[in-house]
Amino acid sequence: MENYVNELIDFINNSPTAFQATENIVKELKENGFEELSEKDKWNLEKNKSYFVTRNQSSVLAFKMGKGNIAENGFHLIGAHTDSPALKIKPESETISKNNIKIGVEVYGGPIKASWTDRELSIAGRVIIKNGDSIESKNINFENPVAIIPNLPIHMNGELNNGFKYNAQDHFQAIIGLTDNKDEKNFLKSKIAEKLGIDLENILDFDLFLYDWAKSRLCGFNNEFLVSGRLDNLAMSHAILKAILAPTENNSVDVAIFFDNEEIGSRTLQGADSSFLKDILQRISFSESETFEDYKRAIANSFLISSDMAHAFHPDYPAKHDPFYTPQINKGPVIKYNANYRYSTTAESAAYFSNLCEKADVPYQKMTNRSDMRSGSTIGPMTSAALGIKSVDIGNPMWAMHSTRETGGTLDHIYVIKAFKEFYK
Ligand code: ZN
Repeated sequence: MENYVNELIDFINNSPTAFQATENIVKELKENGFEELSEKDKWNLEKNKSYFVTRNQSSVLAFKMGKGNIAENGFHLIGAHTDSPALKIKPESETISKNNIKIGVEVYGGPIKASWTDRELSIAGRVIIKNGDSIESKNINFENPVAIIPNLPIHMNGELNNGFKYNAQDHFQAIIGLTDNKDEKNFLKSKIAEKLGIDLENILDFDLFLYDWAKSRLCGFNNEFLVSGRLDNLAMSHAILKAILAPTENNSVDVAIFFDNEEIGSRTLQGADSSFLKDILQRISFSESETFEDYKRAIANSFLISSDMAHAFHPDYPAKHDPFYTPQINKGPVIKYNANYRYSTTAESAAYFSNLCEKADVPYQKMTNRSDMRSGSTIGPMTSAALGIKSVDIGNPMWAMHSTRETGGTLDHIYVIKAFKEFYK
């Protein structure tokens, strides 16, 4: 089981954006006998077989057909997201200031902005390429640090330690090199062409992000912490992947959901607030029975675990937490509650999950925000509402959510995989 933590470290290090996360999930699914389906094709799904479908190369749904009647046994779903807050490069924003080559960015999601400064950054994502008459998409990862967003020295910005507000347009233009050629153009594009071994003219467009190059690392005298970028939510994505790959002999259809775009509200072609999951569940159900009622029966017999990281009790800021709800690192997954249903958990679905943890011999905790504090949200409420599936929101406790360096617990990762395996069992 300890290996899971090392595997998570590799998974995060190799998944700087949702495109690479999806690529890595797909690779492991294929290695374990999952067959790729295209939404464009006619499907002939077979019992006991395993399949997966992607959208936009950044979301993926994997499912195991099981051996039972779908209407009677329903779907067992666990969902997470592949994206994390980041700085997205504006393709046409390259400029030269004195001898500095700079590139502009847009803020994707809600990062802790200061954590992006003075760090070795690299660039990854996907590039759209012209290949003869066709258009291709290629993932790219520069792997080495190639960019930096330096702070002003404290001597020139006395406000920095008094709550300075970074302006994304003015202060977050990343420096990607130096040049003495005033007419230097397409510096980044030439590096992309070089990396992919293609002509610069064949680059049509790209979705590229800056990412913190620093690797995931264990920390603490007893290796109790995992310090990493993108723990939210690659940790849960990895846990679901490990659970769906475990051999089972189920009557239900087990589904693993990895959605892009949670950090910006999920309303995209491939996000949780799209037709993606519904389309696939309907096609699975209709592969067995052509009646709509049977699909609805399958839905009514289903359950969703929406998994996303949770805020751990922060010992330096105890007043930020409700004293009765203080999830701690390495004390197990957290069931998340919110009276206004920013989380999908009900008393009933929470009881289902806590029962599951007890069966798996996994400790669990509960969290709700202080009553004077707004809650975050997840893919849980929208997915549950759109499909009509009962759902619980859970996730492992962590510090500094949305920082480039987040901290979670090593033991918690093992606990949550055990709980997910129990659910699929
Ligand atoms: Zn998240």
